[in-house]
This record gives sequence, C-alpha cells and structure tokens, in this order.
Amino acid sequence: MNTDSALVRHIETLCVHQSSVRDTTFNSVILPIYATSTFSFDGPGKNKGFEYSRTANPTRSALEGCLAALEHGAGATATATGMAAETTVMGLFDAGSHIIAGHDLYGGTYRLFVEILSKHDLNFSFVDMRNIDNVAAAIRPETRAVWVETPSNPLLNLVDIGAVSALTRERGLMTIVDNTFMSPCLQQPLRLGADIVVHSTTKYLNGHSDVVGGAAISRTNELAEKIAFLACAMGTTCSPFDAWLVLRGLKTLSCRMVAHERNAQAIARFLDAQPQVERVYYPGLESHLQHDLAKKQMSGFGGMLSFDLRGGREAAFRFIQTLRLFTFAESLGGVESLIEHPESMSHASMSAEARIAAGITESNIRISAGIEHTEDLIRDLRCAFEAVAAH
Ligand SMILES: *Cc1c(COP(=O)(O)O)cnc(C)c1O
Repeated sequence: MNTDSALVRHIETLCVHQSSVRDTTFNSVILPIYATSTFSFDGPGKNKGFEYSRTANPTRSALEGCLAALEHGAGATATATGMAAETTVMGLFDAGSHIIAGHDLYGGTYRLFVEILSKHDLNFSFVDMRNIDNVAAAIRPETRAVWVETPSNPLLNLVDIGAVSALTRERGLMTIVDNTFMSPCLQQPLRLGADIVVHSTTKYLNGHSDVVGGAAISRTNELAEKIAFLACAMGTTCSPFDAWLVLRGLKTLSCRMVAHERNAQAIARFLDAQPQVERVYYPGLESHLQHDLAKKQMSGFGGMLSFDLRGGREAAFRFIQTLRLFTFAESLGGVESLIEHPESMSHASMSAEARIAAGITESNIRISAGIEHTEDLIRDLRCAFEAVAAH
C-alpha cells in the first residue's frame, strides 16, 4: 500500500495500491472490515480519530481516500447507495433553488428530483444538454447547479463536461456529474472542470453485482467537508462491510473496464450489421453523432450500449428471453453481461411524456457488456436473431 504520488502515476497502480489506511496491529495486507458501531476514548477529547461509525469508520475512510484519489478530488463520501449519494449532494441546496438537469437522466435520479425534492421546494428544468445553448438558456437568477449525466442512459448521449463547467464557472454555479457509466478509468469529470462527481458504486466500481453503494467526490476540501457533514447528519453513509466489498472490487477496475469495452465494441459492430436492428447507440461507433466528443473527453467508450430492434416490444421481449448468456436484469457494470428493456424496467419510474422526450421507445434494448469471451457473447446474440427471424 503506497499512495505516494511520485510513485503512483497510473490509475491501474492506484486501483491496487489504493489505501493509505493500514492495519498496524497485525500488518494484514488487506484492510480489515472494522465492524464496530463505536470507538473508545483514551481520555476526555482523546481518541484515534474515530468516534461513531455513522460519522466515520476506518474501512469506509479507506474507500473514501481511494475514490478521492481515483477521481482527482480533495475528498469523498461513501454512501449506502447511489441514490443516497445523490440525496446527500442535493442537501447542499436551499429551498427555492433551481437546478438544470439532462432530459435523459437515470430514471431514479429523475424520480428523486420530480417526486421528492420538488416537494421540498427545489425546482428543476430538464433540457437536452447535447446543445450547450439549451443549458445557458435555462439559467435563472435562482439557478444553483447543473446536473450532468454522460453518457446518458440508455441512449448514450454525451454532454460536453468541459463546456458545461466553463459556463457554470462563469455564472457562479456548480457542475455535478454522474460518472457511473464511465468510472474514473475512462472519464475524469473533476479534471474537466466539474465540482462534484457522484457514483453508483453498485455498478462498475464494485463490479461484481453483490453490493449497492454510492459516493460523492468533491474538487475542493470545502465541498468535501460539507458533503461529509450532510452524510453524517442525514445518515446516508455506507456500512464497513459494503465499503470493504467496493474496495475489493476496485482493485480490478482498470482491467475489467478494458474487457467490458472490448465486448461492447464488438457487440455494437455486430448489432450494427443486423438487418433487424434499426439503430445502435454506442459512443465508440464512428456513426455515433458525438463520436468526436467521446474521443475528446473520455479515454475509452465504456461497456454500455443500446439498440432499437424492429418489431416493437413483443420482438424485444422474445429476443431478450431467447438469450442464454445475457441475464435478463436491470443494473449494469458487473462482470456478467446483462440485458434489459428500459421502457418497462429501468426507466419505468419516468413519466411516459418524459420517456418520449428522452427518445426511449418500446423498441429499445439496453446491454451491459460483461467480461465473458467476446465470441461466446456474439454467438448467443446470433442465435437470438435467428430465433426472432424464424418466428
Ligand atoms: C444505478 C444508477 C444510479 C443509482 O444508484 P443505486 O446504487 O442504484 O442507488 C444513479 N445513476 C446511474 C447512472 C445509475 O446507473
């Protein structure tokens, strides 16, 4: 374990030598799960930096240090879920604040904003952020932040993080980026000018579909401290066991992302050549409308893609259920390939109008490419196309 910045220059090394928190009692190579709710005092006001695990716990602190380093932030807070991270961050804003968000957000984020935070007098505008002019036009005197998700879900639209950050800086606003789809291995929003990065660590960061978790990483100490305070006060922090699982997953993040991307790229090209496929959404295809932006702000194209299958919902479900290596499930970012139907599953929490505005139709199918062998995945897809065609 060595996070000496002169020595650790690459993210692959950082993922492995991730933590400066060490077990000095027995020199265990792996940091223990500090399963304790409370910590004893040596005397009045004297302890070893920990008092109560909702506020801080050594295993969670190790994860937070690692996430801050990976995203080039000043500090991080690890939360119970991705939604807990989002809820905590939104605690920064006073009643009456206005926030501009993308029109094609993760369904749960949209639901949090529209169904819950609106009741607490936060106001939202949802705009197509592919055009930065739409963001500028939505700014009001009471606007406090711009919430960016890029690539978006499930249509893989991109938002220019550098351009949004420059605009918000000029107007005294904050830029918050949901970096769940890319992970810090492929996109580093704070380096592009953003103020806060949020993650659902449930996805790529943990990577093994066996935990739900989240995180918020801040560019400045001041913001990091505010978010840590909010998480403690709101009770949104994660358990030591969950923190430990995410730390374990992070060690292989960089090599998993390479494998996810290799498969996604191959699947996207295969789908693009199928007559039954109307359109493929993947930033790694030259035909993607924002392929140049993808090459500019990301260091890879990621493991997520979606496509429109001819024949509507019925064909979509027949196709999905014929597959054998792709598990029919929501979520993403695990080592196993997953497939789902956004309209009726991951994006069912959006209103029908919001889905239409975002361009999500009943023909759309989303794939989270796992790390299996590419040929096996392509063979499974080919068989499913033959089955749909034969019907
Ligand atoms: C899953 C997800 C979330 C929510 O995270 P949970 O861990 O499920 O609470 C937020 N944003 C994106 C992009 C996601 O994929």
